[in-house]
Amino acid sequence: MQTNPRIQQQLQKWVEENRGHVILGTTAQYIPELGKADPSKLGICMLDEEGNYYCAGDTDIEFTLQSISKALTFIALSCHYGLEFVLERVDVEPTGEAFNSIIPFEIHRPNKPFNPFINAGAITISALLPGQTSQKKYEYLLHFLEELVGHPLEMDREVYDSEWKASHRNRALAYYLKEAKFLEIEVEEALDIYIRQCSIKVSTKDLALIGLIIAYDGYNPITKVKHFSDEIAQVAKVLMVTCGMYNSSGNFAAHVGIPAKSGVSGGIMAAVPPKLHSQTYEFRAGAGIGVYGPAIDVQGNSAAGTMMLRQISKEWDLSIF
Ligand code: GLU
Repeated sequence: MQTNPRIQQQLQKWVEENRGHVILGTTAQYIPELGKADPSKLGICMLDEEGNYYCAGDTDIEFTLQSISKALTFIALSCHYGLEFVLERVDVEPTGEAFNSIIPFEIHRPNKPFNPFINAGAITISALLPGQTSQKKYEYLLHFLEELVGHPLEMDREVYDSEWKASHRNRALAYYLKEAKFLEIEVEEALDIYIRQCSIKVSTKDLALIGLIIAYDGYNPITKVKHFSDEIAQVAKVLMVTCGMYNSSGNFAAHVGIPAKSGVSGGIMAAVPPKLHSQTYEFRAGAGIGVYGPAIDVQGNSAAGTMMLRQISKEWDLSIF
């Protein structure tokens, strides 16, 4: 089917209407290289099941996955070892704390990290990726992602170096994990694979495509390839709804209602499941969404990106609730 010019015009309008919200955030200063991004940028790509991309705003920029990678490592690892293996090592409970907080891990002392989207859980599962070295583990994940997006991907070396030098808190978390015997590999190695996965460069189009595959339970409706099981997609979407937008996941669920995962680079990957009974015809058959807006709010979500998704979801009735 041809692209629908009305959808394209609407998206362009909504990007411009929401641009003003960039002032509600700032670029992530704690990773100096991310801090250099242009905070005025805002862009979105949506992809439907027939392969039509609708892109508006600043979508020609590549950015790093950051925390969005946590959802993808969870899926890749579950594909390799099975969901049961992964859920024995990391739970699916939200914490209500910041993504890099030591509190839920150290004070409550669960027998496994609360979920794979907080750093404690993410570092734990990244360390479990198949491969003897952090390089091999990273390559495993990279290959998995390249299969999803259908083209080669690479790491942003500057962002990696910048985070490596600044990762005192993640290093502290990794030491806690090691002490609690959740990490089988060395701390520095675990940090290396985690920071590498966070530094993989993507575009809003890539995020829209992966979002679509998640929305379709691991199936790419364009290439007709099934990448992962319904069960894995289901748990991934539960995690995205309950923990995907940091400690404003509840608000995002209430006002946007789309399974999504964000990162401190300003990216958001969202999976709009098919909702055939909806009265609005746009995207009734589901969609994938990629957003970029590097000015992030205090929780870590793209400030303008979140507001824009709120508007889009309301106008097009995309909430799953
Ligand atoms: N690499 C970042 C960190 O661990 C990822 C944070 C995020 O995007 O939430 O601090």
